[in-house]
Amino acid sequence: MAYRSPISRRNFLKATTVAMAGLARPALRFGCVPGQTLPLEEFSYGDVTITSEPHERQLHDTMAVLMELSEDSLLKPLRKMAGQPAPGEELGGWYLYNPDYDRKKSNDGFAPGAPFGQWVSSFARAYAITKAPELRDKVLRLNRLYAQTISPGFYVKNRFPAYCYDKLLCGLIDAHQFVGDPAAFPILEETTNTALPNLPPKSVEHDASWRPGTDETYTWDESYTISENLFLAYERGAGDRYRELGARYLLDSYYDPLAEGSSDLAGRHAYSHVNSLCSAMQAYLTLNSEKHLRAAKNGFDFVAAQSYATGGWGPDELLRAPGSPDVAASLSNTHSGFETPCGAYAHFKLTRYLLRVTRDPRYGDSMERVMYNTILGAKPLEPDGRAFYYSDYNYDGHKVYHPERWPCCSGTLPQIAADYRISAYFRDGHNVFVNLYIPSTVRWIEQDAHISITQKTTYPVDSVIQLDVRASRPSRFRVQFRIPAWAENAAIAVNGKLVSGESKPGSFVAVEREWGVEDRVELNLPMTLRLEPIDANHADTVALLRGPLVLFPQRQGMRTAKRSELLAAQNTAPGQWQAATQSGPVGFLPFTDIQNQAYSTYLKLI
Ligand SMILES: [Zn+2]
Repeated sequence: MAYRSPISRRNFLKATTVAMAGLARPALRFGCVPGQTLPLEEFSYGDVTITSEPHERQLHDTMAVLMELSEDSLLKPLRKMAGQPAPGEELGGWYLYNPDYDRKKSNDGFAPGAPFGQWVSSFARAYAITKAPELRDKVLRLNRLYAQTISPGFYVKNRFPAYCYDKLLCGLIDAHQFVGDPAAFPILEETTNTALPNLPPKSVEHDASWRPGTDETYTWDESYTISENLFLAYERGAGDRYRELGARYLLDSYYDPLAEGSSDLAGRHAYSHVNSLCSAMQAYLTLNSEKHLRAAKNGFDFVAAQSYATGGWGPDELLRAPGSPDVAASLSNTHSGFETPCGAYAHFKLTRYLLRVTRDPRYGDSMERVMYNTILGAKPLEPDGRAFYYSDYNYDGHKVYHPERWPCCSGTLPQIAADYRISAYFRDGHNVFVNLYIPSTVRWIEQDAHISITQKTTYPVDSVIQLDVRASRPSRFRVQFRIPAWAENAAIAVNGKLVSGESKPGSFVAVEREWGVEDRVELNLPMTLRLEPIDANHADTVALLRGPLVLFPQRQGMRTAKRSELLAAQNTAPGQWQAATQSGPVGFLPFTDIQNQAYSTYLKLI
């Protein structure tokens, strides 16, 4: 019998402002230094309701697949590695535990049980959104079943003990925070006690061997990324031990030269090192370490400088040196452009931290690009474990599933789908920041008044966003709107009257007033077609953009066009464009609208 998902779209659309009983927001141990500005606060998952169909479909469909999985199957590799009876079907693919794994024969069994903790985290976040009791029960049950499997065998037999520990840690601290599972921290203690003797004593570099007698695959663990969740565990009350562990696993050989600007990211494994910049941000927030903030900022700048127009980065999962010809060459020599769910998840976390700390809207611009041009267009997770992995930026590009089932990206897809809402709005005292323009509602209480802002828009296809502000009684506060760097001549009107003052591209523009019971804001972010070169040395290799959207040419083998032809593309239907070229008319679509047809991302100008 098919499981009926509690996450109906209607449930998602249902608003809830109920505070989580007994769950305080994480205490800020930050800001005690005079002159330091506090980071912007995130809203809770339940404070934001998203009504955008593609965003909610992604969360709904992914969670529906995960809720259907047999719990015996989910636990099977963990039980097998603990030497326990393990009934039920294998999920297969990367998830399988195969003691005779041989990557020359097959990659099935590559990372047994690895996304288990990410799926628990996703159920917990989905519960924070929907309050569906089935999700709470699922988290409570899985944690208890998992607790019975905790054994050194899981770490000894695992290629990725630190990676897997990090994911289990994430699931347990989310179960504590969002579900209020009273067993989560005791289970975390046992997990940590069992894992630590089987982890390297400090973080080790990617590709460095630390376990004698193991092959190369055992050097791909990611101990240098685990500090972020260790610090979060500490902030959520798991104990001082987690702050100490967080500090211990910071990889100095990565952050120190990066903070000084004396190293770049060249040659580093892409997703895990961008993810590791989130550990640097948590070191800043938890330990007040300015050095780690500098490392994260510099790291982001290196990533931004080598990103595709889509916001994606790291062809063949490697970061490149500044000015490297590799990124342009990747358009012909690989189909593995950007590890999309994992990379976008790390990118969202990093830009969320940086935006909160610096209030610089360019981090919001970057997040928005990655959202519309990569992750929101990922193919859906299939019940058999087929998962979208790489965005393909080749001249002969296709959207395909990864050949191996249940890869890493099946763990991060539901996490980022849940996180759109905590990335859309932020607050600080009497300021509310609108970062992402997505049909949605945010609710909060401002000096005893119940306030909501509801966005109605077909952005980024259209340029106008309508925001209805409702207050239970008139209230004074400031709403800050992100004006993207590409948006020249942006305009804001309140109740039909233009707000005076400059709306500079690449800034937050504040509207402060006494808001009445019902007010309407209209924000216009005018969009024109523009071309962006892949890098400074390949000025004639360009992507066509409009606002935050890359427009992807829909013709197999198309490699060239004239600048004037591209910039004269016409909007032929909502979300569709067409250019007249020498070789006939060519259609252009956003990434979200590409199905199985061939496309390219860049063209060479002739
Ligand atoms: Zn992945």
